[in-house]
Amino acid sequence: MNRLFTLPRVSLATVPTPLQPAPRLSDTLGVEVWLKRDDLTGLGLGGNKARGLEYLIGDALAQGCDCLVTGAGPQSNWAMLAALAARRTGLDPHLVFYGSPGAGPATGNLLLDELIGAEVHYTGDSDRSSVDRVIDAVAEKLRVMGRRPYRLPRGGATGLGATGYLRASLELSEQLLGAGLSPSQLWLATGSCGTQAGLVAGARWLAAPYEVVGVSVSRPAAECVRRVDSLANDVAALLDLPCVPGEITVLSGHIGPGYGIPSDEGDAATRLVAQTEGVFLDPVFAAKAMGALVRRAREKPLVGPVVFLVSGGAPTLFAGRASTSRGAAALEAAL
Ligand SMILES: *Cc1c(COP(=O)(O)O)cnc(C)c1O
Repeated sequence: MNRLFTLPRVSLATVPTPLQPAPRLSDTLGVEVWLKRDDLTGLGLGGNKARGLEYLIGDALAQGCDCLVTGAGPQSNWAMLAALAARRTGLDPHLVFYGSPGAGPATGNLLLDELIGAEVHYTGDSDRSSVDRVIDAVAEKLRVMGRRPYRLPRGGATGLGATGYLRASLELSEQLLGAGLSPSQLWLATGSCGTQAGLVAGARWLAAPYEVVGVSVSRPAAECVRRVDSLANDVAALLDLPCVPGEITVLSGHIGPGYGIPSDEGDAATRLVAQTEGVFLDPVFAAKAMGALVRRAREKPLVGPVVFLVSGGAPTLFAGRASTSRGAAALEAAL
């Protein structure tokens, strides 16, 4: 039996998530689009991070840990879902955020972190990488206090975390078979790269017909390609799968004003999908990936069908921003 099924794992996501046709969006774009609804994974308000956390928390419990330390920005979907997964499994959640506490009431994910009762630490440094250092420091302090902390890097982007999306590839291939679909592409937003890495490793393992198309929302595309490649190899090694080389596709040019800052293109895509299909895209990730798909479909004919991963992030729809990209500074400061 493949190690995919024997690695320690806790059940957190309600799967399979729906694979739904998007007929009105397809008409608008001139290509058949299907939505893989990982905004409906059922942990908190849903999202892609639930899948990786099944393996990461499984490992934490197998190692006998009693608390979890991770971090990101105060509006991070990852941090909130990791804290929630910790609560679901009896671990105490500690979150490290860069920057300093903001003034005013907590909104979006920060409000949820408060409801979860996560212990929140600020680095006092606006540099995102300050989180990594303080995660180590908080874990060390907990260890000195006699606790058994489990440390997780930003985004949960490790070979083990990416295993969640290798498993999702299997789920998707069963759904595609059932629907009689052979898509040309699978589109998604790429941030810390673990999700795309799991999907790439899964597509290679299953010899899937589709190309995995990542849309970078934070890093230069070349850096994403390197990270996806390295993480995909880590997953393959972890699961004893043959290491199949292949191209990795990451599109650039869709970040807009910056990571975490809503873009006009993304906002337009969010409105389009809400108004054609009744599905909400988050402003930081899925909106920008859909914006890229819309732009691509309008530039020249796209051979479908294509599958688009709706990856979650609902809380950031309420993270103290105006409804358009004008007035979006609050989110920028928080991611
Ligand atoms: C984290 C996240 C992504 C990107 O996943 P990575 O594994 O970090 O690349 C996409 N969409 C949403 C909503 C996310 O929270």
